[in-house]
Amino acid sequence: MSIIVFGSINIDLVVTAPRLPLAGETLTGENFFKIPGGKGANQAVALSRLGIPTHMLGRVGANNFGTELVKSLQDAGVQTSKIFLDENANSGVAIITVSHSGENHIVVISGANGQVNQEDVERLTQLLPTAKALLLQLEIPISAVVAAAKVAHDANITVILDPAPAPSHLPAELYPLVDIITPNEVEAGQLVGFPVNNEDTAAKAAGVLLQRGVKSAIVKLGAAGAICATPEETFLVPAFTVDAVDTVAAGDAFNAGLAAALDHGLSLHQAVVWGTAAGALAATKLGAQTSLPDRFTFDAFLKDRGVKF
Ligand code: ADP
Repeated sequence: MSIIVFGSINIDLVVTAPRLPLAGETLTGENFFKIPGGKGANQAVALSRLGIPTHMLGRVGANNFGTELVKSLQDAGVQTSKIFLDENANSGVAIITVSHSGENHIVVISGANGQVNQEDVERLTQLLPTAKALLLQLEIPISAVVAAAKVAHDANITVILDPAPAPSHLPAELYPLVDIITPNEVEAGQLVGFPVNNEDTAAKAAGVLLQRGVKSAIVKLGAAGAICATPEETFLVPAFTVDAVDTVAAGDAFNAGLAAALDHGLSLHQAVVWGTAAGALAATKLGAQTSLPDRFTFDAFLKDRGVKF
């Protein structure tokens, strides 16, 4: 059995400079990095690092960075046979400028990610008989997200939706297809229409999401941990205390830890603990895919923190 991630695959082109350039200004920077990214690919790599057989589905451009992106997923142990090399689109690209003080400018071109469609959903359907869960995010067209959730739901596969980047609205038909929705505070606030910035408002937001039809709602609260609500109960799982240096991809690691635990047959409560552990570990390292913990580190962390499952 495997876990499937259906989502975005990007290349991040990152430059560093003393400060961000003003409009029309040319600056001399210092470093250039080419880093694989995209929320979908990040979650797939995170799962694979945790030792879970993982399939990535999505699209890359046949002519720019595509084979390189597929290879980097393969190197991380992710199965890529259903990724479509699109002759008519460029791979998704994020152009990122980072200043010494840590500020950034980011422009994203969704490219091939924006072309994901029903054909990809059909490729997904072929994998469902051997799948345990489907992880979705919002960096591909929403019509494809809804169609993917529907085929997985109909096949009794657990659907986990990370509603990121923050949407102003999700189609009403999507909620009942989702087993677990996992917004952070900003995303939860966008979805429910009131600010979400503490335990109380997160619990209230989770309640609204349950009413819209999801089976469980988990609101990720950064260093405050995560609130989880089901029709039966609402509980807080506190964050693990770590020396956080960069929380990029903490949310992606959280979702991978959550899904990995469910794959191991653990309870939802235990799965949220695994999610917070993976998120905390990702926060201790710089970068996105570079910060995702491997299984050895993850198990050692759980043991060290007295987690017995
Ligand atoms: P996102 O990356 O989607 O914005 P969060 O920042 O809420 O999501 O992080 C996801 C999870 O990672 C949190 O729920 C928490 O468990 C863990 N995490 C994030 N930041 C920290 C931190 N500074 N210390 C410990 N755990 C953290």
